[in-house]
Amino acid sequence: MVSRIPDYSNALVEQAYTGLYDITPDWHPVLGKTTVEGFYLAAGFSAHGFKLAPAIAELLAEEIVEGTAKSIDIGPFGLDRFEKGTLFRAAYGGNRA
Ligand SMILES: Cc1cc2nc3c(=O)[nH]c(=O)nc-3n(C[C@H](O)[C@H](O)[C@H](O)COP(=O)(O)OP(=O)(O)OC[C@H]3O[C@@H](n4cnc5c(N)ncnc54)[C@H](O)[C@@H]3O)c2cc1C
Repeated sequence: MVSRIPDYSNALVEQAYTGLYDITPDWHPVLGKTTVEGFYLAAGFSAHGFKLAPAIAELLAEEIVEGTAKSIDIGPFGLDRFEKGTLFRAAYGGNRA
């Protein structure tokens, strides 16, 4: 920026904030029931949480109230996929390797 706008060479940072990218190994969230009764996960959104939030809220509400998410099967998003080695392979976010 300084090379294009030299006046910025004396600029100071007045304010800053940080935010975490909660990235999972396959860049997809972890959703649904856990082995702990009554404890549900909706985390690891890998920088896509805002846009997914309305659909995730509906799915989690179905999972909690009705026992299973009915709009789509969220089973593949379970935490156990890391143990089973059934990670998502789709090109998305940074998992393009
Ligand atoms: C720089 C940046 C850019 C992004 N851009 C986009 C974008 O363009 N589009 C998009 O869809 N997504 C984007 N995201 C991702 C999106 O912000 C997240 O996926 C989303 O905010 C995750 O929501 P969350 O509720 O899971 O977690 P968070 O929003 O992180 O909420 C977790 C909350 O839990 C609180 N907390 C933590 N520990 C405790 C504790 N022990 N006790 C009580 N409270 C606790 C935290 O303070 C926080 O309020 C971006 C993220 C970053 C960092």
